[in-house]
Amino acid sequence: MDVAATRSDRSRLPMWAAGVLALVCGAIVAFSGWSEWESRNAELHNAETDLGNLARSLTQHVEDSFELADSLLRGVVAALETDDGKPGVATRLQTILKSRKANLGRIRGVFAYDENGDWIATTEDVVLSNYNNADRDYFSHHRTSADRSLLIGNPVRSKAGGQWVITLSRRWNHGDGRFGGVVLATIDVAYFAQFYRQFDVGRHGSISLISRDGVLLADNSEPSSQLLGKPPIEQIPYHPTSGALHFRRPDESSDRLGFYQHAQRYPFLMIVARSEADVLAGWQREARVRLSVLVCLVALIIAIGVFLVKQLIKRQQLASALAAKEENFRLIAEGSSDIVTRIELDECIGYVSPSTMRVLGWHPSQLLGKRAISGVHPLDRPQLQEILDQLRNGTADEARATYRMRRRDRSEIWVEATVRATRRPDGTLDGFVAVTRDVTQQKTLQGRLETLAIEDSLTGLANRRRFDERLLEEWGRAYRDKTSLALLMIDIDHFKAFNDAYGHPAGDECLHSVASILADEAQRSADFAARYGGEEFAMLLPNTDAAGCARLGERIRRALHEAGIVHAHNPAGIVTASIGGAVCRPGFERSAGPASLIEAADRALYAAKDGGRDRVVMTAEVIELSSSKAPTTAPA
Ligand code: GH3
Ligand code: MG
Ligand code: MG
Repeated sequence: MDVAATRSDRSRLPMWAAGVLALVCGAIVAFSGWSEWESRNAELHNAETDLGNLARSLTQHVEDSFELADSLLRGVVAALETDDGKPGVATRLQTILKSRKANLGRIRGVFAYDENGDWIATTEDVVLSNYNNADRDYFSHHRTSADRSLLIGNPVRSKAGGQWVITLSRRWNHGDGRFGGVVLATIDVAYFAQFYRQFDVGRHGSISLISRDGVLLADNSEPSSQLLGKPPIEQIPYHPTSGALHFRRPDESSDRLGFYQHAQRYPFLMIVARSEADVLAGWQREARVRLSVLVCLVALIIAIGVFLVKQLIKRQQLASALAAKEENFRLIAEGSSDIVTRIELDECIGYVSPSTMRVLGWHPSQLLGKRAISGVHPLDRPQLQEILDQLRNGTADEARATYRMRRRDRSEIWVEATVRATRRPDGTLDGFVAVTRDVTQQKTLQGRLETLAIEDSLTGLANRRRFDERLLEEWGRAYRDKTSLALLMIDIDHFKAFNDAYGHPAGDECLHSVASILADEAQRSADFAARYGGEEFAMLLPNTDAAGCARLGERIRRALHEAGIVHAHNPAGIVTASIGGAVCRPGFERSAGPASLIEAADRALYAAKDGGRDRVVMTAEVIELSSSKAPTTAPA
C-alpha cells in the first residue's frame, strides 16, 4: 500500500476519533431526547385514557341522574294529564310529591306549573300561591313549542331555595292538546360540583357538564357559580361523540389536555380536562434528573474522549516527528559516501547503507547477517575485535581504527572506521554503529608524503633528515649492544668544475650514478646510505670495525673508478671521490654523542681532500671523539 496514503489516513485518525465521539454523544443525546419525547407522549396518552374513562363514567352518572329526574317527570306528567279537569288533582299530586320527597336522592325538587306558570304542586315546603314561574325560559319554551321531549335548561337560581339548580322540564297538555303547563325537576349544581371535586384532576384540571348548546351546567370549580350558563370553550363537534381535545384558555399559560363525551340519551356532554403542565409535572421532575445524569455522562464521555483524542494527536505528532527524524537519518545514511553499519550484539550486520555498493562492490542485502569483521584483512581483524570488545565491556564508548578491507573484486582498500556503542534508555548495550570511510587515497598520499619526508628525490637514497634519525637509532642500538658503529663520509672531487663543464643536469645524473654505486655497496641489510647534502654522501655501517669501514670505503672509491664518468677537470680524468671514515663504540664512550662521530668522519674527509683527493682516510681505530686526533690515511 502507498506509504503516503497510509500516513495521510493516520493523520486523519484524530479527526475520525473526534467525529465518532461527537457521533456517539449525538446518538446518546438524540436517543435520550427521543426516549424522553416518547415517555412524555406516553404520559399524555395515559392521561388522555384516564380522562376518557372518567368522562365516560361521569356521563353515565349524569345520564342516570337525568334518567331518575325524567322518570319522575314522566310520572307527574302522566298523573296530571290523566286526571286533568278532575277535582282535587292538585291536592293529590301535592300529597304524592310530598310523600316521595324523602326518596328523591340527588333530585332537589319536583314542581308542577299550570299554563300560567302558577305552582300546582311541589316537593318543597313552600306556600304554592306565592310563586309563579312563567318568567322562566323553559316555561316560555314549552308554552310556545308543542315538542314534548325533555328540556334541559340553563342553570337558574331556585325560587324556593335560592341555590343554583339545573332544570329538567317537560310540557303537559290538557285533554284537548292545549298547553296545560310545565313539570320541572331540579338538581343542585352543587351536587354535581361536590361529586366532581372528589376526582383528582390536578390543581388546574376541570370537569364540566355542558349542555349540547354549549352552556356550562356544572363544574368542579369552587365557587361553582361564576361561569355557569356561559359557554366554557369553543364549539365541540358532535361527531365523533367522544374524543381528545387540546385547547388553551385565554387566561392560562399552559395548554389543556381534555376529553369530551356526548351523552347518548340526553343533550349534554362532559368535558374532563387537565393542564398539560400538571400531567407532565411528574415526568418533568424525573426527566430533569435523567437529563442531569445524561449531561454528566456526556460531559464525562467528552472529557475522556477529548483526553484520548489529545493523546492520539500527541502520539501522532511524536510518531511523525520520529518518522521525519528517521527519514533524515535514512537520507543521511543512504546519501552519505561513508558506509553506515549497524552491528548487532552478535557482531553481525543488521543494517548497512547503500554506499557499500560503491565502496566495497557489495549490495547491502548481500552483507546483512554477515559477521561485521568478515571483510576485514586477516591481519587487521584482531585490532577490530579488540575495539568491539572494549566497547562491549564499557572501557570505551567510541573508538577509531584504520584497517584494510577486501572489495568484492578482491582488490584491497584502506578504510577508517569510527565505531560507537549504542545503548538502550536503561543504559544496557544494544549494539554498535560504525561509520566507515574509504581512505585508500589518503593512505597512498600519506605514504608518498612519508617517503618524501625521508627520501632524497634526486638520488632515491635517504635524505639528511632520515640519516639523522637513523644515526640516532643506530647509536642507541650500538650503545645498548656495546657494539661498534662506523660512518663513511663521501664527497665528490671538484664537482663544481664538473657542473661548470657539463652543465647542471649532467651533474644531477652524476650524483644519481654515485648514489647507485653507494646503494650497491651497502650490501648488509643494516648498512645505510644517504645523501648528506649537495655532492656529499654518508654511509652508516652498524656493527662494523675500522678495517671493515676502510674496506668498504675503498670498494666505493674503486667502483667509482670503474664507473669511469668522464671529468676532464679532475686530475684523474674521471669522477672520483674523497672518503673519510670513523668508527666508535658508544657503550664505552659515555660522554660522546652521535655528532662526534660525524665530526670525526668529516675530519677524516677533509684529511682525504688535503691529502690529494680520490682516497679513503680513516680516523684512528679507537678515537677520542671529543679531541681531534690525526687521521690515518689509506693509500690511494
Ligand atoms: P672539492 O674537490 O674540494 O670537493 O671541490 P668541489 O668543487 O667538489 O666542492 P665545492 O663545495 O666547491 O662545490 C660543490 C659543488 O657541488 C657546488 C654545486 O654546484 C655542486 N652541487 C651541489 N649540489 C648539487 C646538485 O644537486 N646537482 C648538481 N648538478 N650540482 C650540485
Ligand atoms: Mg663538498
Ligand atoms: Mg666536492
